[in-house]
Amino acid sequence: MIQAKGYAAENSTSGLAPFSFERQEPHEHEVLIDILYCGICHADIHQSKNEYGGTQYPFVPGHEIIGRVIDTGEQVTKYKTGDLVGVGYFILSCGHCPNCTNHEEQFCDNGITPTQNGKLPDGSTTKGGYSSCIVVHENYVLKVSDSLGTAGAAPLLCAGITTYSALRHNEIGTGHQVAVLGLGGLGHMAVKFAVSFGAEVTVLSSSPTKRESAIALGAHHFINTANEAELKAVSGSFDFIMDTVSAPHDYNRYLRLLKKDGTMILLGVPPENPQLAVGLLTSRRRKITGSFIGGIEDTQQMLDYCAEHDITADVEVIPPSYINTAYERILESDVTYRFVIDMKKDQQQ
Ligand code: NAP
Ligand code: ZN
Ligand code: ZN
Repeated sequence: MIQAKGYAAENSTSGLAPFSFERQEPHEHEVLIDILYCGICHADIHQSKNEYGGTQYPFVPGHEIIGRVIDTGEQVTKYKTGDLVGVGYFILSCGHCPNCTNHEEQFCDNGITPTQNGKLPDGSTTKGGYSSCIVVHENYVLKVSDSLGTAGAAPLLCAGITTYSALRHNEIGTGHQVAVLGLGGLGHMAVKFAVSFGAEVTVLSSSPTKRESAIALGAHHFINTANEAELKAVSGSFDFIMDTVSAPHDYNRYLRLLKKDGTMILLGVPPENPQLAVGLLTSRRRKITGSFIGGIEDTQQMLDYCAEHDITADVEVIPPSYINTAYERILESDVTYRFVIDMKKDQQQ
């Protein structure tokens, strides 16, 4: 067994605290990864507070993992000790259903095993990347170019692939008017990718203080959603809206901003379901769709695209002792734009 040092929530209101546990030695096709950095995704907060139900405690979050391979099982062919690698939202899928064989493992018919709060075959619960190390099957590990660096690459493993995959699947690019609703971890990556793919991008944000930095990210326009007049001025003007908002909100306010045949892509998963004004869809043949992370092949493609185009997340690097404060600040939309935990920080002290 491997001794791991992590950070766990004991229950839905406890916050996170240091937590020691054991991981299995890597089996034949598994690699042992020494974790350097782990991003804080809003899903970690939803789950640590049990907002969707089903959180198993102690809960160790973390699915935006960057680390180095330090040991490999005997049959591993894809990685060797010293490789810089990433791990995202899931560490296993069945590998043989139509979605898995079609490189869309995130939709595995037999269910993925999420990196955090997932069920392993032995009945134990997966523990995520807010920890010193992790053991993952080589087929679910991503290669990370050294040129991407480390901390800024971590959020690519969830915020990055979620927005990249949604944009690619909907073939968004040059000639499209795209709005990004909510400028947080996902939102700022959506802006970077949509701009990079040639779209004209408008940020719809409830935080007027983000105006300047939104433009610095490459957005062409910024709308303060608290200002009705500003919102009204862009009625019927977008081909796509990428909704990344984490909290319950009125979807109908934003559906009316779509053109005829425009599409709202839901990425944020607030804990409450919305009321829908159906007429907003029927009257302009508008569509609502959703998207969920991305497959392993697409995630690798995204990481390679980022290395080629010099795209990483804008991050604030923190020691593990700051996690609870970071959670509070995320809930106040006070982060530019992703917290990333330096997993080596507290261990050195
Ligand atoms: P985040 O960094 O906290 O960003 C969410 C943004 O939503 C905030 O920055 C804020 O933007 C806006 N917002 C927050 N509360 C709001 C409120 N009460 N009213 C209006 N706007 C509000 O979160 P994230 O990590 O990007 O994650 C966003 C959501 O996506 C979460 O629900 C998460 O679980 C989900 N998610 C989904 C997937 C997927 O595969 N579909 C993957 C990862 C995460 P402004 O300040 O600009 O308004
Ligand atoms: Zn995530
Ligand atoms: Zn499958």
